[in-house]
Amino acid sequence: MANVQVRCSVNNCHYWTQDNYCKANQILVTSDSSGGHAGNSYDAPSVPNDLTTPVQMSMETCCQTFVSKNSRS
Ligand code: SF4
Repeated sequence: MANVQVRCSVNNCHYWTQDNYCKANQILVTSDSSGGHAGNSYDAPSVPNDLTTPVQMSMETCCQTFVSKNSRS
């Protein structure tokens, strides 16, 4: 499996660290149309291996692993 370093500018996320690095062990990137309708439990550990959500442009994708720094979950 690839070892990818994720850069992210969403600095109110629990996993965000200084200089725009993500410290999560794994993240789920999915299509806006798929993630937008899913609940907060829709994340990397629970996604089916055969799920596919094709898009046409990068602006149609999102990180589903986001957790607000102020969240208790
Ligand atoms: S989990 Fe997603 S939103 Fe949060 S820091 Fe990592 S890439 Fe950014």
